[in-house]
Amino acid sequence: MTSSAPTQDRFRISFEFFPPKSAEMEGQLWEAARDLKRYNPDFVSVTYGAGGTTKAPTFAAVDKMISEVGLSTASHLTCVDADRQETHQVIEDLRALGVRHIVALRGDPSSGIGTAYVPHPDGYANAAELVSVLKADGGFEISVSAYPEKHPESADVAADVAMLKLKADNGADRALTQFFFDNDVFERYLNAVHRAGIKIPVIPGIMPIQNLTQLKRFAGRCGSSVPSFLDARFAGYDDKPEERAKVAADVAAEQVEDLIRRGIHEFHFYTMNRAPLTAAVLENLGRLPNEKAQAGAAA
Ligand code: FAD
Repeated sequence: MTSSAPTQDRFRISFEFFPPKSAEMEGQLWEAARDLKRYNPDFVSVTYGAGGTTKAPTFAAVDKMISEVGLSTASHLTCVDADRQETHQVIEDLRALGVRHIVALRGDPSSGIGTAYVPHPDGYANAAELVSVLKADGGFEISVSAYPEKHPESADVAADVAMLKLKADNGADRALTQFFFDNDVFERYLNAVHRAGIKIPVIPGIMPIQNLTQLKRFAGRCGSSVPSFLDARFAGYDDKPEERAKVAADVAAEQVEDLIRRGIHEFHFYTMNRAPLTAAVLENLGRLPNEKAQAGAAA
């Protein structure tokens, strides 16, 4: 796929990373963060507590992202298993690290996705409560989650949109969506969001597909469907990693290009802590890293 009008600022971007769980993953994260910095994201974000990790790896990754890599960094924060005092302490610890942007979440039950979420008896029950607290504390930009295909625990899309409205009314500045692959679904969701009077930007979460088989394994738990056209696009490339990567970059770039045509100009990329695929998507869209953009401008 080729881009129609390559410009550096046709759309805005942010990148999501997760804290590394091993020395090897540590190296991979910092290589990815430094590589992707060259594409000038508005901000990056670091997940919190996902997959049973504790807060320490998030603190360490956020600290390094700000102080060494020099990226504007949002920390995710969940309410899972924390009483109010602990949550306040984490907020102040993040502030001390220089964090000025928090992605405020309820989080998944520590007993496992699919089990009933039980809030800490002295803690915050959901993301909307956490947003209120962050707003009252002050000094933070606040992002929240949104689910174009509804959260698996939500009775229906209306209940989901009602929760987003509460989060916006309580002070959220923007929503970042769960990943999805059907832009019609996203557009219908956005229409429902607008009909509900929600004014904050809802930024699509884009997941370039590193591995379709693995993606299918966890997409269901996230409430994201994997349309059958993706099977057709990736068919025959199982043992051809280079061609598969090209298809993956084309698929994500086509999704973004179509969303741009529908009027969306800001995207949150799930990088999975790897730069090459996200970089290929961006370059397909005409978004070049600084050195290539400068060389192009000088030529
Ligand atoms: P909320 O916004 O509080 O609720 C989400 C939806 O679930 C609501 O629409 C509501 O209708 C429904 N719901 C919630 N509780 C109930 C209930 N008891 N009964 C019925 N319906 C209910 N997880 C992590 O652990 N760490 C992360 O860093 C992280 N980052 C994320 C970033 C993004 C952009 C997204 C989209 C998700 C992320 N998650 C993360 C996953 C998230 O924690 C889970 O999806 C979690 O189950 C819900 O958290 P939330 O903040 O979306 O919840």
